[in-house]
Parts: sequence; C-alpha cells; structure tokens
Amino acid sequence: MNAIPPRGLHPDEIRQALDHICARDLRAKGGDVWAYVYDSGLPEAEAVAEQALLRFQRLNGLDFTVFPSLLQLENDVVGMVAQLFHPGPETVGTFTSGGTESILLAVKAARDRFLVRHPNVLVPEIILPVTAHAAFHKAAHLLGLRPVVLPVNHETFAVPTQAVADAITDRTAMVAVSAVNYSHGVLDPVAEIASLTLERDVWLHVDACIGGFLLHYLERLGEPIPPFDFRLPGVSSLSVDLHKYAFAPKGASVLLYRDAELRRHQIFACTRWSGYPVLNTTLQSTKSGGPLAGAWAMLNAVGDEGYLGLARSILQSRRRLENTLPTIGDFRVLGQPLAGLLAFSSPTLNLFWLADAMRDRGWYVQVQPGRPEYGLDPSLHLTITPVSERRLDDFLKDLDDVARLARSVPAFAPLDALPAPQPGTRPTKEQADAILAQLGILEGGLPERMADVNALLRVLPPEWTEQMLIDLANRVFRWEGRG
Ligand SMILES: *Cc1c(COP(=O)(O)O)cnc(C)c1O
Repeated sequence: MNAIPPRGLHPDEIRQALDHICARDLRAKGGDVWAYVYDSGLPEAEAVAEQALLRFQRLNGLDFTVFPSLLQLENDVVGMVAQLFHPGPETVGTFTSGGTESILLAVKAARDRFLVRHPNVLVPEIILPVTAHAAFHKAAHLLGLRPVVLPVNHETFAVPTQAVADAITDRTAMVAVSAVNYSHGVLDPVAEIASLTLERDVWLHVDACIGGFLLHYLERLGEPIPPFDFRLPGVSSLSVDLHKYAFAPKGASVLLYRDAELRRHQIFACTRWSGYPVLNTTLQSTKSGGPLAGAWAMLNAVGDEGYLGLARSILQSRRRLENTLPTIGDFRVLGQPLAGLLAFSSPTLNLFWLADAMRDRGWYVQVQPGRPEYGLDPSLHLTITPVSERRLDDFLKDLDDVARLARSVPAFAPLDALPAPQPGTRPTKEQADAILAQLGILEGGLPERMADVNALLRVLPPEWTEQMLIDLANRVFRWEGRG
C-alpha cells in the first residue's frame, strides 16, 4: 500500500491493515522486550495518560498565547519533576520530546554561553566518558563541538575524576556525566566532578535521562544513592526522561537548568521573516500537545506513592538478576548498577549468538558490541521495568537453557573474507557493499539473525561501521517498488 487510496478506507480495513503491518513486531508491553519500552504494569494509569494524549494531540505547542493550557501543563510537569532533584530557588526547566532533544538543547545552551564568554575559541570541546549517550556525539556533530572521549574504569565503568580534570582546557564548553549511564546502569562520580567544574567554571550536564526519576525514588527507599542533582552547586543542567521510568507515553523529557540565565542560551526567537514572530524553547516549532498532556496525566495518575511502589518492584527484580546471573552461564554483572538497568558479560559464551537464541524464544535482550579500543567487552543490556518481576522466572529459565546450548557454539568469528581496514580509513562503496552482501543485507532487507552483524560492529572501526549503518538506512528507508 504505497499510494493514497482513491476513496477512503473503512475504519475496520484500516485497523486490519495496521494489524498486518505489526505482525513482525515484538510486543511492546508485557515484559518480553528488555530495552526501549517501559511498561508500568498499571493499565488504568496508562489509559488515563493515553486519553490525555489524544485529547491534546491536535493542539499546537508553538504558541502559548493561543493555547495557554499547554503553558500551564508544561510548568506543572517541570515543577513536579524538578522537585525530585533538589532545585535551587532559580531552577527552571523545559519539556522536550525526549532525551536526545534535551541533550541537544543543553549542549546548544552550553556552547552559546561559552562562545559569548570565549569569543576566540573556534571549536569548543565537550568532554564525554565513553559511556555517555550517543546523543552527545550527535549534539557535538550538529553543533560543531569536538568530542573529547574518556575511557572508563574497567571495574566500575565510571569515569575517573582525574581523567576529567586532566581533559579540561580553556576550550571546554561542557563536561557531561551520567546518572546513570545507559550501557551499564552505573553512576559517574558526579559529586567529585561537580566540585571540579565549579572550581574551573565549566558547565556540567548530568544526564539523568534514564536513571534520574528512579534514583530519586530508590533513595527514598533507603538505597545508598550518592548525590547527583542540584544539591551539588557545580551541576549546571540535568536531563530526565519521562517516557522512560516515569512511564509516560513516548515523546516526553524534561531539561532542567540551575537558573534562567543558563536557559537563555537555549531559547530561539526570530522576527526577521514575513510571518508570525517565532519563539521556540525547543527544536520543534509546531509540536503536538499530546505527549505533554500524557506526561502530566501519568504523573498525576501514578502519584508519589505509586512511583515508590514501582521503584520497589524494579529494585527487587534487579537484585534478583544480580544474584542469579552469576549462577548461570558464567555471567558477570558489570560494575555496580544503581537504577533499573544492568549489563552482563561472559568470558566464554558467544553473547551475540545468545541474544539471537533468546529472540527465537520471544525475548529481546540488547547486544552491546563493546569498544575494543576502550577495553570494553561485548555485553548484554537489560532494562528492568515493573512487569519484569512477573516474567523473571520464565526469563531466567530460558536464559539458562540458551546459556547451556551456547557452550557448544564457537566464540564469535569476524567474517572470513573481511578486508583488514587501515586505521583512520573509510570503506569504499565496493568494500561496504561486499560486507553488506556477505551479511545478506544488500538484497533481502534486514537479516533474521544479528550475530554476524554484531560481530562486525565489534571488529570494524567506527569510521567503517558508521558509514555502513548510514548506507543501510539509506537502503531500507525506501517505499515499495523503489529499487
Ligand atoms: C535514553 C537515553 C538518552 C536519549 O534519550 P531518547 O529519549 O532516546 O532520545 C540519553 N541519555 C541516556 C542516559 C539515555 O538512557
């Protein structure tokens, strides 16, 4: 179906067509998928949020003078969220479409403020632990900053404070740390680094996109969570996603700033064209009111005690995984996960094969190919949600089964005929095509099994894999019939 039908279809036909299109998806709810999706296990609260989402879906957040409801909803949501992070009297925030947008805006604000104060620096730098989310690399790419990437400690998977201290120069526009990082669920030494950035007068962004909301509740449950928020005077900005551990419908994140002077550099206004005056706090201009209303409704529907209960369930599941994983398949949990996610590796088993085998049984576990140049081994990532608790027995049983089978599977082998790339080179079109063809991607679309792809992502340098992934996207996003 790639042409607009001559006459509109019956609603039933549309529903059936959509069902058909969804046939190959994994289920977004119910705990099969251990990444990307966040099921609160509270269907009533989620229904209320989805109704609010629909109700506000067609309102336009572009202009708060026309839809003041959206201004109020945003200030309510930012207020509710900010209060979890020890805001100062001047703390302000913005509702955005997701973690990536929050990070893009924070980096833009930091860059613009830096350039006002250091007009002679041509290329400002952003200091990133290798565990910082890819969104910071995207921001650096889009905004013209040079990423300075730091290795992490191989036991803790946190960035050493001394490495950050050594990397700060008079070109440093931002230091970014994670609370917690996505790959390992580990907290960087935010307090020590915040003392450093305060002393050196450098912007510190705390990426609490995935961890922040939960860390607040885990601390209240008595977990020893080191401070990572505005309690630390060196923290300039902090991002926290609501479409993760606040379980809001997708398209919901909050970016907080210590004060409005910092946020000024985020905001864009334009009165030099022929149309309406543009005043944008976010990257989008026209934007649906739906996700904002959905987040507002979810926070109110679950409530503080509700979130405490969800955090308790997640903590129990995480503890059970931490205790059980080492007893099957010689798995070891990496670092000290503090929030709702963890990574585990195995010195002997082929994890890429194992992830495919879990998928055959209906589970999605996320492969992290690792980065050999930073001493990071392959690992599997699990995002735990409140519904994980009731699926853990089944999950661990299947994991145990496939770990036994994996013993007779060879360790991953880079594809035979791989050209050994010279460091610093990029693949030619022929080289890239040859590899994609070998993986069966060139003609047939996406491969059924990902083990070879993941092995390749591990062994090839990023200059190669990034270009090949871009080619891949350029290939698969084509309408039917377009060769
Ligand atoms: C998810 C995540 C992001 C990016 O957020 P999106 O909502 O996927 O754009 C950034 N940082 C961390 C730590 C994350 O977990």
